[in-house]
Amino acid sequence: MTRTHAARGAAAPNALAGTWAAPGRVNLIGEHTDYNDGFVLPIALPHTARATVRLRADGVLRLYSEQGGGAAVELAVTELAPGGVDGWARYPAAVVWALREAGHPVGGADVRIDSDVPTGAGLSSSAAIECVMAAACNDLHDLGLDGPQLARIAQRAENAFVGVPCGIMDQMASMCCREGGALFLDTRDLSARHVPLDLVAAGLRLLVVDTRVKHDLADGEYAKLRAGCERASALLGLPALRDLGPDGLPAALGRLPHELRRLVRHVVSENARVERAVALLDAGDLRGLGPLLTAGHASLRDDYGVSCPETDLAVEAAVGSGALGARMTGGGFGGSVIALVDAGAVPAVTVAVEEAFRQAGHTAPRTFTAVPATGARRIA
Ligand code: ADP
Ligand code: MG
Repeated sequence: MTRTHAARGAAAPNALAGTWAAPGRVNLIGEHTDYNDGFVLPIALPHTARATVRLRADGVLRLYSEQGGGAAVELAVTELAPGGVDGWARYPAAVVWALREAGHPVGGADVRIDSDVPTGAGLSSSAAIECVMAAACNDLHDLGLDGPQLARIAQRAENAFVGVPCGIMDQMASMCCREGGALFLDTRDLSARHVPLDLVAAGLRLLVVDTRVKHDLADGEYAKLRAGCERASALLGLPALRDLGPDGLPAALGRLPHELRRLVRHVVSENARVERAVALLDAGDLRGLGPLLTAGHASLRDDYGVSCPETDLAVEAAVGSGALGARMTGGGFGGSVIALVDAGAVPAVTVAVEEAFRQAGHTAPRTFTAVPATGARRIA
């Protein structure tokens, strides 16, 4: 990441304190591909976690969040260890731990977090608070790490300290996305390209539907799916499922046990959908993205098995009321759905989804439209 100063040309920023912001994300296409060395295409949301951070000399990390349920949490940085912190404070503490583990001289600080990224909605509120913490530490301690390096630190924090075996997409999106475009990311080597995505100029909107459900299976199932993919690639003698293309798929499926075939089919077809989506965006055919989104949802529902009645219903109601395409976004088992919609059809699609949820007896969803926003940065 390049260091971002609040006001260019103004006095140098305070070296001991400041405020940073890092966004949540939606992934346009490329789901459950990031732990298979595959492709993803996220955008940053305008919703951010902000952290005001002031260094302290006594080695105490004092963490407070407006959404943390009240009290501040005080930890000694030298005593940070996986399993040693409970609750929401694990996420920012994990980043300090991961930076120190990597040999960076990060000490104590007062941290005050405030976020408008909905939590547990598949919009990566966790990556937002990790990345805002990573960006703040990078600047205040002059670590000189770039966006991908900080994303790797934040992913290691979530994997090893929080205990969630997530891939790299969420942290890369929160660190590296840029306003006005999607991040075409190769998760194998973190090479990335910013693909312009001017929805407004194309008369389109991206409608986000937070279904407000998170099913309990999410964490255990995610680990099982990841293990299934790793088993499949080992059986096929491949470094990762990313190394299997659509042409080799039929033969590969024949060499796999039944229960792994559907996983492999999803990952291979999903990587191809990301590449197709990027080609469409490069050609300026934003509307062409719609059917790809819906096909991606069918694959997540029928092959990967990570949709749920609420996300299926939101997709069905959106497409049935005129959306160009729709899919669940994020890990699944609840969370959010995105729909590509003509600007003028947003009210009708929103009402159709709300009405479908009402009739099915589900909690009312939260909906908003999103344009591609910018990644982690210093704001004060
Ligand atoms: P997602 O990343 O999709 O929102 P996760 O389950 O990965 O869902 O992360 C949600 C968790 O992150 C919350 O339960 C909470 O522990 C933590 N979290 C996120 N944002 C905040 C915040 N502003 N304040 C405190 N904790 C937060
Ligand atoms: Mg998360």
